[in-house]
Amino acid sequence: MATIDGLPPLREVIATHGLSARKALGQNFLLDLNLTAKIARQAGDLTGMDVLEVGPGPGGLTRGLLAEGARRVLAVEKDPRCLPALAEIADAYPGRLDVVEGDALAINPLDRLTPPIAICANLPYNVGTELLVRWLTPKAWPPVWDSLTLMFQKEVAQRIVAKPGDKAYGRLAVLAQWRCDAQIVLHLPPEAFTPPPKVSSAVVHLRALPAPRFEADPKVLERVVAAGFNQRRKMLRASLKGLSPDIEDHLTAVGIAPTERAERVSVEGFCALARRLG
Ligand code: SAM
Repeated sequence: MATIDGLPPLREVIATHGLSARKALGQNFLLDLNLTAKIARQAGDLTGMDVLEVGPGPGGLTRGLLAEGARRVLAVEKDPRCLPALAEIADAYPGRLDVVEGDALAINPLDRLTPPIAICANLPYNVGTELLVRWLTPKAWPPVWDSLTLMFQKEVAQRIVAKPGDKAYGRLAVLAQWRCDAQIVLHLPPEAFTPPPKVSSAVVHLRALPAPRFEADPKVLERVVAAGFNQRRKMLRASLKGLSPDIEDHLTAVGIAPTERAERVSVEGFCALARRLG
């Protein structure tokens, strides 16, 4: 059957290159090219942008990103079995796809790209959160990337976009929403993947704000948020006691009741407290 980019359908690619999915590598592939193009479109207009993709696998999303007009895609893949399939895509899009074999946690591929940069990936679940936290905590803000469009397990996606008072609200939500607009843009059932994982998935789109939403020293903010949510059931006067002997006064001074719990404090409230403690 013909495809829009003239390359073989993904089932055929997988059969030709013997890409049986390996659980240890988090391999749940997307084989529907309409769906991968739809995910690529969630990243916004890719024309004139460099795109970093982590974990291209047989290349479904890679093909979506290239077909949607990305200037250049740099794809980092740990599984060497996928490289011949990715080389075929590179041949079909001359000069626009570079593939790096390696562990995305061990290298910094962003160094090799030219802004404007978008990051788009159907991430392996076991490394997804760690990569997200790294991308959200660069040395300087704004970061080198403009946006992140990432697939997560549904529960992780909910933790990224959660609001104060939600069960999923915690460190990840504060970290993400302090300096980005974050929203879930697509929900995917397990059957969208081959093989289907046990859980549902969602694509989150994060757009970097030019400056943090509220002023705060990142290190102090991280300490306050970590202390608050490490003991999320405790009142803040107890969970934050280690940060200052006068924590009750500081909380009151920034308008937060010392009896409040971290899960009900807004990003603005955490930033105000971080400024006061900093
Ligand atoms: N993007 C493909 C798709 O949508 O069909 C594959 C997604 S699959 C969920 C995750 C991919 O990430 C696999 O190809 C796996 O080999 C790769 N991978 C796993 N751990 C990795 C790591 N640490 N660095 C780079 N790639 C990794």
